[in-house]
Amino acid sequence: MDQASQYVYILRCSDGTLYTGWTNNLERRLEAHNSGEGAKYTRSRRPVELVYSEAYVTKSEAMSREAEIKKMRRAEKLMLIEGKDQRLLEDERYMRAALREAEKAAKIGEVPIGCVIVSQGRIVGRGYNRRNTRKTTLAHAEMIAIDQASRRLGDWRLEGCTMYVTLEPCQMCSGALVQSRIDRCVVGAMNPKAGCVGSLIDIPGMPLWNHTVEITRGVLEEECSKILKLFFKELRQRVKRDKVEMI
Ligand SMILES: [Zn+2]
Repeated sequence: MDQASQYVYILRCSDGTLYTGWTNNLERRLEAHNSGEGAKYTRSRRPVELVYSEAYVTKSEAMSREAEIKKMRRAEKLMLIEGKDQRLLEDERYMRAALREAEKAAKIGEVPIGCVIVSQGRIVGRGYNRRNTRKTTLAHAEMIAIDQASRRLGDWRLEGCTMYVTLEPCQMCSGALVQSRIDRCVVGAMNPKAGCVGSLIDIPGMPLWNHTVEITRGVLEEECSKILKLFFKELRQRVKRDKVEMI
């Protein structure tokens, strides 16, 4: 489904050794490594743990990167892994800021989705879903954050910026990601019913555009989906209560 994504990955095996590979389905590949079926090189070194991954658009890019990593000394590989950990910490920090935006939406009865845009280590745009209060479909969290960042930076081109959003963007917002030339988008929870960054379709990852957006998925996924689940649970209870009162 997600044909634009090829992954290079490093596993830490049970004996401490590192194994490098590439795949177009990271989840299934990990399962194979851990079950031992179809992954013979790690079979005697199970269980394995995923410690690093990079996403590429084409198979040949992923394969040449895999070859590059395989040639690295162990110390170099460890540095690569640690660098990634640093980035993950930073991603989590900004995703928390996006979650705080989502909470603002929940407070006014809007579906809690939040977004921040970061440029050179500072937040230049914030937004939370205000579709009902503003009565316009354009008031998605991402659109508001893009608008704010563009005003602040004085340019519609948001090159060098990273967007952090608590829920996988829709078709409009993922189109805006490409249009605004944002470098990278970090997604919290996926949206299997309407998401356009890998769920239904992968708009920013399509190789058709002259600008592609690097996507990182699943950062603070649990927190991001919890806030939505809680919102809808309370909404259902409220509807039920109102019905009872009407009777
Ligand atoms: Zn949207």
